[in-house]
Amino acid sequence: MNTSDPEYKEKNRVEGGTLYLVATPIGNLSDLSERGLKVLREVDFIAAEDTRNTLKLLTHFGISKPLISYHEHNKRERGEQIARKLKSGESCALVTDAGTPAISDPGEDLVALCAAYQIPVVSIPGCCAAITALTLSALPTRRFVFEGFLESDKKARRAQLNELAKERRTFILYEAPHRLCDTLEELYTALGERRIALCRELTKLNETVERMTLSGAVAHYKENSPRGEYVLVIEGASQVVSKNFWDNMTIPEHVEHYINEGRSRMDAIKQTAKDRGLAKSVVYNAMEEIKDREEE
Ligand code: SAM
Repeated sequence: MNTSDPEYKEKNRVEGGTLYLVATPIGNLSDLSERGLKVLREVDFIAAEDTRNTLKLLTHFGISKPLISYHEHNKRERGEQIARKLKSGESCALVTDAGTPAISDPGEDLVALCAAYQIPVVSIPGCCAAITALTLSALPTRRFVFEGFLESDKKARRAQLNELAKERRTFILYEAPHRLCDTLEELYTALGERRIALCRELTKLNETVERMTLSGAVAHYKENSPRGEYVLVIEGASQVVSKNFWDNMTIPEHVEHYINEGRSRMDAIKQTAKDRGLAKSVVYNAMEEIKDREEE
């Protein structure tokens, strides 16, 4: 569309009574689109997940606007308030901490509320950590699954991991740095060996993409503490190229294999740890977890 076209002007007009989802940078401020900036300048008010963060962004671009907070803990009452303002003809831009609103953040609820009240919603596309990581992963991108954060409830998390073990498409996870080591171990236990891309601090000065195996990632992060924000991109089950007989086995299946050959449990654990280049304790813990599950 040509910028002087009436059609372009029409499409870019900020309308009262509309909710605009404005994607914001995930690190590099230059990634805010011209259209996103225009909407932030022209709406009546901005709903932000963290008003302090958004204030920094607005100050950088010289924008001054009424800000209200909209986050996980006030989304019910605040959502209704925002919907009332929209119904009365005001326009609102929703921004989250970073990236595309409604992707792993409470924006999803506000869009559902607006849809229920027949309030128009317009999405201004831009940064999304998941897609940025996927494009850098060097894993198959034709078909992929976005899982966001793994479930925090233990039982639901196990069910999710069991399902992911069978997933054939490349899949994408978000994870906080302080949980990364445990999550990598859990993934290795549930999925067996896979290729993984750990995409860290995307679009920022310290952006890194570590392409390795899951066992390599477990070992690496035992020695190096994770820092910054991470997206994990993991290859699907069908894409694994088997080099070792146990590549497609989970740790418990690998141990079971040796037990079925007549080895003692301890010996099977030792051999499994040796095959995979892991500490015995990692294999032992994986077996204990299976035992706990069976006892539950
Ligand atoms: N709505 C956002 C989006 O579109 O990507 C995601 C919000 S979610 C609450 C935050 C998670 O996104 C972080 O825990 C991290 O996993 C990922 N993330 C956000 N920014 C990132 C960055 N610059 N580098 C790597 N991961 C990032």
